[in-house]
Amino acid sequence: MVKNSLYKGIKEVLESANVCHRCILRFFGVKEYTSYIAKTDVEKTIEELVNVENEVLNQKESVQDNSSDDYPLPKRFLPNPCAACLGILQETCDEMVTKLDDVVTKSEHRFKDFVLQVALPVVVDLRDRLFLFYLKQKLGESFCIDENIPSVKDICKWVIGSQYGKLTNTGFTPSSDFQILISSTYPDTVKECFVLFKNCTEAFPNSRKSKATAEDIYTKTAVLNAMEALSTKIEKLYTLPPSPPDKCCTFHEIKCTHSPLYLGGRYNKYSRELSQTPWLIDGERKMESSVNELITDVVQRRILADKIIFSASGREDVDVKMLGDGELCLKTFVCMFHLTLKQRDFSCYVLSIINITSRLIYTATNAMVLPLYQV
Ligand SMILES: [Zn+2]
Repeated sequence: MVKNSLYKGIKEVLESANVCHRCILRFFGVKEYTSYIAKTDVEKTIEELVNVENEVLNQKESVQDNSSDDYPLPKRFLPNPCAACLGILQETCDEMVTKLDDVVTKSEHRFKDFVLQVALPVVVDLRDRLFLFYLKQKLGESFCIDENIPSVKDICKWVIGSQYGKLTNTGFTPSSDFQILISSTYPDTVKECFVLFKNCTEAFPNSRKSKATAEDIYTKTAVLNAMEALSTKIEKLYTLPPSPPDKCCTFHEIKCTHSPLYLGGRYNKYSRELSQTPWLIDGERKMESSVNELITDVVQRRILADKIIFSASGREDVDVKMLGDGELCLKTFVCMFHLTLKQRDFSCYVLSIINITSRLIYTATNAMVLPLYQV
């Protein structure tokens, strides 16, 4: 957080530079995520912080009139997108919650919690850096922030994740088997980063490649490296404050992925007419069934997956029995739509497999759901 005495100054400087209220809160250094979710809370927090500062100032200076008439009226709906977040934290992230719900509902994924990842244009990092210089220029050396301010990406995740979790009654957590990725696009990335390229070409190694596109050259790493290399003079290369963009940053893609699920166990085979995997020659089936199909048939009735991969530690011929401790095998379920799968569920599958065939037994004692780190 910045010093109490700076809230009013920061608010005035940023409002006149067309910066939205969520971003003003970021530049105050506020890190409580609950302050950012609802717009009413954003307004309330700004008001409270500025008023606390007013009270302190009034006490010191014995000023009679402590009304907030000095401040420009909050620009709740700015004509241009916010000059710091490119409009992402104004309306875009709030509107995204409904779109996200539509996409995830159509994908038919089922989950009890989720991780949210947001990919934003690097221009927002550049603009944050420039605004910090600008605030120092306007407010003097007293403006200093000991830690990094919350990034546009942080706030975007907090706002969308919290609202979507509430809407779907699911948990927005830092780690989950279910991941949602939202990507964005900003048409003026090259235009705004060209100054960095011109003054620090070596930070953009892909520019030496023939046929390199703008996307190949202006990667996030390259732009951040250039900002770092030019950190002592970057404020001289750009006009301060950064001007409000005439185009918004927009979200253009939502991807949902579920971590694969691994089931491991051992099987015994008592038949000499059962292959390990489907045995086909020129499209013609040579054996009625296989170990793979018998196990998969049972399990996929209860678990929806896009793809199921069967792997065994060895390979026995069709006419060879597998006795003793059995063959170790692993099944991988890609793009799972399951809620949770517990050990007791799997024991149930084992019993089903034993029931439907006397030719194959999946040994219950060794069958288990494997955590990812064991695979
Ligand atoms: Zn903003």
